Amino acid sequence: MALIDFKCENCGEDFFEIVNNDEEKVICPKCKSTSIVRVYKGKFYGKGGSCGGGNCSGCNGCGH
Ligand SMILES: [Zn+2]
Repeated sequence: MALIDFKCENCGEDFFEIVNNDEEKVICPKCKSTSIVRVYKGKFYGKGGSCGGGNCSGCNGCGH
């Protein structure tokens, strides 16, 4: 279980959710869109990007 920051691609809303696993669907609390991207913070994601669930070689620790 982790507290993860998200950003809605539809309306730009920033919010956070407590998710139990990566498969859990996240919905924007403002517009109910499912076009959500994770906002990675912290030392593992300090390069301004993320692996996006794909190549994890450059983001040690994200769990993908
Ligand atoms: Zn939204």
